[in-house]
Amino acid sequence: MTTRGKQTVRDLRRGSRSTLLRRLYFEGPLSRQELGTATGLSAGSISNVTGELLADGLIEECGSVDSDGGRPRILLRVVPDRAHLVGVDIGETQVRVGLFDLARTELAASDHPLDETGHDVGHVVDLITTGLTEVLARTGITAEEVLGVGVGVPGIVEQGAGPDAGDTAVVHGQTFDWNAVPLGRLLRARTPLPLFVDNGAKTLGQAEMWFGAGQGARNAVVALFGSGVGACVIADGARFRGATSSAGEWGHTKVHVGGRRCRCGSRGCLEAYVGAEALVERWADAPPGASEKAGLAALLAAAEAGRPGAVALLDEAAELLGAGIADLINLFNPERIVIGGWAGLMLGPRLLPAVRDAATAYALAFPRAQTTITLSRLGPDAVTLGAATLPLTHFLESGGELPRHATRAAG
Ligand SMILES: [Zn+2]
Repeated sequence: MTTRGKQTVRDLRRGSRSTLLRRLYFEGPLSRQELGTATGLSAGSISNVTGELLADGLIEECGSVDSDGGRPRILLRVVPDRAHLVGVDIGETQVRVGLFDLARTELAASDHPLDETGHDVGHVVDLITTGLTEVLARTGITAEEVLGVGVGVPGIVEQGAGPDAGDTAVVHGQTFDWNAVPLGRLLRARTPLPLFVDNGAKTLGQAEMWFGAGQGARNAVVALFGSGVGACVIADGARFRGATSSAGEWGHTKVHVGGRRCRCGSRGCLEAYVGAEALVERWADAPPGASEKAGLAALLAAAEAGRPGAVALLDEAAELLGAGIADLINLFNPERIVIGGWAGLMLGPRLLPAVRDAATAYALAFPRAQTTITLSRLGPDAVTLGAATLPLTHFLESGGELPRHATRAAG
C-alpha cells in the first residue's frame, strides 16, 4: 500500500473520530443510534469509532434510555475530567489564568493586576508563568493532564499554520506599544505545553457562539466592551478574520472626524469615547486614583443617583454605541449582536434600551429588524473561557488527539 493510501485511511478515521467527538461534546449524552442519525455514518462505523474512543478513555457510558419496546439504548458522553484546558486573558488591566475541565468548569483561576508596569512584555510573560504554576498547584492537576494553553491578547495576532502555530505567534498591540512582540517564542521558553494564541475579542466570540448568547446564530457580531472596544464578526458560522487576522477592530472605527485622541494614535475612534478608560477620563467627578473598574462603577452609581454630568456621559455613550452597532448591522447584516466584556456587563442593564433605540434610529430599517441586541451570558471573565476554547478546538478537530506529553498520563 502506498503512503498516500495509508494517509487517506488515517484521515478518514480521524475525520470520523472528530465528527463523533464533536457531536458528543456539544450535544451529548447521545446513544449510538442517535449518533448514526445525526452524522449519517453507518452502524458499523459508529460501533468501531465509539469503541476506539471508549478504549482511549475519551468517552464513557452514562446511563441509558428506553427505546420503543426494544433494548434500552446506552448513552455516551465525553469524559469531563479526561483532560484539562488552560485559558489566559491578557486584558488591559490584568492577566487572568483559568484552569478548566473539558466540561468548562473553572477549577481554579489566578488574577494579577497590571499596574505601574503596564504591558511590559517580560512582566506579562512572568505573570502568565506564575498564574499557570498557581492554578496547577491549587488543583493538583499536572501539566501532563493539560491539553494546551490558549492565550487571548488585546492586539492583532500574526502566526504560521500547523500544530505549532502558537509558537510563532507575534502580537501587534498598537494601543499599548506591543510592536511585533514574539509572544509565542517567549512563552515557549517558559512552558512545554502546546500554545494557542488569538485576539481576545475573537476568543470571546468563539465562547459566545459555542456556549453563550450566540448559540444557534450563523451570522453574528460579539462585541467586547472593556477598557477598549473590539468585536468578533461571525459570518456564515465562521469567524471573519480578514487578510491578516485584524478584522473586527470596531473600537477604531470613527465616530467623530478630527475628534478625541485615541490610544491607537488616531482621532475620533469609538473607543476614545465609550471605552471604560475613556469614560472615566472624561468624567469630571471621577474619584482620583481609583482603578478603572472602581471609576466606572462610581460613574454608574452617580448616573443612577441622577447626577447630571454622569447621566449625560452615559446617555451619550449609549447613543454612540448604538450608532456603532448600526454600522455593524449595515455592514454585516447579523441576526444577533452580543455585548460582552466587563464594562459591557456592568453598564449593559442601564444602557441597553437606549443602545437598541439608537441602533434602530441609525441603521437601515430592513437589516435592523432582523437583528436582536443582547448581553453576554458568560460573565465578565468570558475571555478566559474563550482562550481555553483554542486548545479545545484543536482537540475536537483532531478527533481527540492528546499531546505526546499527555498520553503518558493516560494510564
Ligand atoms: Zn483608535
